[in-house]
Amino acid sequence: MVNDSHPVTPSLEQRDRDSLLHPFTRADDFAAGRVPGQRIVQSASGIRVTDAHGRSVIDGMSGMYCVNVGYGRQAIVDAIAEQASELPYYHIFAGASHPKAILLAEKLIALTGGRMKRVFFGLSGSDANETQIKLVWYYHNVIGKPQKKKIIARQRGYHGATTMTASLTGLPNYHSGFDLPFALVKHTIAPDAFWAPEVDPRAFSQRCADELERLILEEGPDTVGAFIAEPVVGSGGILPPPPGYWEAIQGVLRKYDVLLIADEVITAFGRVGHLLAVDGYGIEADLITLAKGLSSGYAPLSAALVGPKVWQALQDGARTHGFFAHGYTYSAHPLGAAAALANIQIIEEEGLCANAAEVGAYLLQQLRERLAANPLVGDVRGAGLLQAVEFVAEGPPRRRLDASLKFSAQVAAFAMEEGLLARPLPVNDIVGISPPLMLTRSDADQVAEMLQRAIARASAMLS
Ligand code: PLP
Repeated sequence: MVNDSHPVTPSLEQRDRDSLLHPFTRADDFAAGRVPGQRIVQSASGIRVTDAHGRSVIDGMSGMYCVNVGYGRQAIVDAIAEQASELPYYHIFAGASHPKAILLAEKLIALTGGRMKRVFFGLSGSDANETQIKLVWYYHNVIGKPQKKKIIARQRGYHGATTMTASLTGLPNYHSGFDLPFALVKHTIAPDAFWAPEVDPRAFSQRCADELERLILEEGPDTVGAFIAEPVVGSGGILPPPPGYWEAIQGVLRKYDVLLIADEVITAFGRVGHLLAVDGYGIEADLITLAKGLSSGYAPLSAALVGPKVWQALQDGARTHGFFAHGYTYSAHPLGAAAALANIQIIEEEGLCANAAEVGAYLLQQLRERLAANPLVGDVRGAGLLQAVEFVAEGPPRRRLDASLKFSAQVAAFAMEEGLLARPLPVNDIVGISPPLMLTRSDADQVAEMLQRAIARASAMLS
């Protein structure tokens, strides 16, 4: 508060509360200074971020699951700076283009082994998924199946925050107050093996496929256009697919001619140990969405990769609809494209996919060993360097913790005090971590130790 008799410069924290509308933050509490964990990040290097008061912590979330190569990569900074000098902006509408857009599109097609035929660039995961839905609708119009417009997503999937992508998102909190989801969007069950009654994970995978089939039949197969899913569920709880899941799901999609959109916004570029997670899980997607690790967040960039069926429809559709009437001023922004090219080069040259797989397996093992004796730890799971700890009430039987305890938020708060940024996820009691991919084994030891201490402190509060 500014006092007239003793003027005080308001803190950055106060100015932040007085000026910004923060995404996914409670507006009243934040404005009143009641949201714990407010932090103003000023700088970053490697796997660490430093706040405005000079306190440095390990960024166990790679920003928002995106800084795959870590902070302070001079090669990316130089690539952006050189691009800004040479050509800071040009559009790619109506036949225009620029070299970095071409090089990057070629590179992304090559990463798919040529299975994808064209690349549409945007700026965020949300807009890329929005593009995918327009492509699905366009495709079905062109092939003469205009009724096939419904989209099936999954409970606990996260696909973005625009009106359509928030609809696809299977988290009810993200719909509340916005008149969403749209009626064309349906949700099927999440691949959450931890809470499934089946002891055999393959039997659970089969039930997921059966549920999907049941929903398609209930809605009418001639009305269902596409299924969208993350290869590994991210924000909705970090759920690696149970064995046999993708095989069973794809069997159903093929049976009813339902297109598959793989939302790889988090999973690609090494996060789960592969350049593309579709390759790791045997997923044959018609459309693939990329963002986040595509540029490691050094500049905003996303991509919708278009497979052969949809590409053919785009060419055929031109005869009826004329030009492809979709795009953004900043599609294929030169700074984003330059950043992405330098970023992918680092991921490839430094073998970060293999490192994520190797150090990820080590970290998971560390966490499992360190947390095994804690009765509140129900599950420690992950793929590559995308990992989660799920908490339960002391059992048996397996039960959720009382939500009002806000246990995972408490763990994250203690982790922060210990020097690790981890994220309480928006469902159940789950803390997620997703550190930069050049994490070493000794970094992983530190992460595991800090998380162990934070969980022990939060657990002690309940006893
Ligand atoms: N899809 C997935 C799987 C995501 O995790 C996210 C963001 O976290 C999005 C889409 C939306 O991306 P953006 O926040 O860049 O719009």
